[in-house]
Amino acid sequence: MAQKDVTQENMTQLNAADHSAAYTAQDRWLKMPMAEYIVSYRDSARVRGYCRECGRYGNCWACPPYDFDETALLEQYTTISLLATVITPSEGVTLTPETADRIIRRERQRLDRMLVKMECDASVPAHTARAFFAGTCLLCPPEHCTRRDSLPCRHPESIRPSLEALGFDVARTTSGLFGIDLQWGRPDAPPACLTLLSALACSRQQHTRV
Ligand code: SF4
Repeated sequence: MAQKDVTQENMTQLNAADHSAAYTAQDRWLKMPMAEYIVSYRDSARVRGYCRECGRYGNCWACPPYDFDETALLEQYTTISLLATVITPSEGVTLTPETADRIIRRERQRLDRMLVKMECDASVPAHTARAFFAGTCLLCPPEHCTRRDSLPCRHPESIRPSLEALGFDVARTTSGLFGIDLQWGRPDAPPACLTLLSALACSRQQHTRV
C-alpha cells in the first residue's frame, strides 16, 4: 500500500488576455517512496514502445534513448513528489488545437520554473533533488533540436526528462494515485480537460548528477 501524502492543493486562476484561452489550473501533490512508485507504475518496455512511435524519439536530447542507466538514476532517490496539474477551460470556452497548445506551453513554463527552483532549494548539503517535466523539451522548435544534427544541446542545464520518457505509465499514475482519468483528444480536437504530470525526486544522500 502506497504511503500517500497529499501535501498541497492549489487553485490558480490564469486568465489569458484572449478569452478563448481562459482556464483554471489546479495543482495537486502526492508524495510516496520512489521504490514503491517504480514497482507499481513503471513498465519501461511497454512505455518505451510508445516513445519509439513519436517523432521526438532520438531527435530531442530530453527524450530517449539515453546514454545513461535510467534505472540506476531513479534508484538513487528515496522519495518522489508527483504533481498532477488539471487544466479546465472556463465556462463557454472550447479548446482548439491552437489554444490547447498555448495553454500547455504557458503552464509548462510555470511548472518547469517552479520545479527547477524546488530542485535547487532541495539540493542542500546531504540532500539531492531532480525534477521531471510534464513532457518533452519546449525550448527550441522541435525541428531545430540539435540532436537531429548530432550536436550538443543548446541548454543542457535547463532540460529534464519526463516520467514517461523513463518508463512510467502516466495514465495509470493519474488514475491510480489521483483518481484522474486522462482524457484523450484527436489532433484536430483536444479533450475538454487537460492533465499534466510532473515530479520532483529527492534523496537524503548526495550523489553524482547524471
Ligand atoms: S534545449 Fe533545444 S537543443 Fe536542447 S533538448 Fe531542448 S530542443 Fe533540443
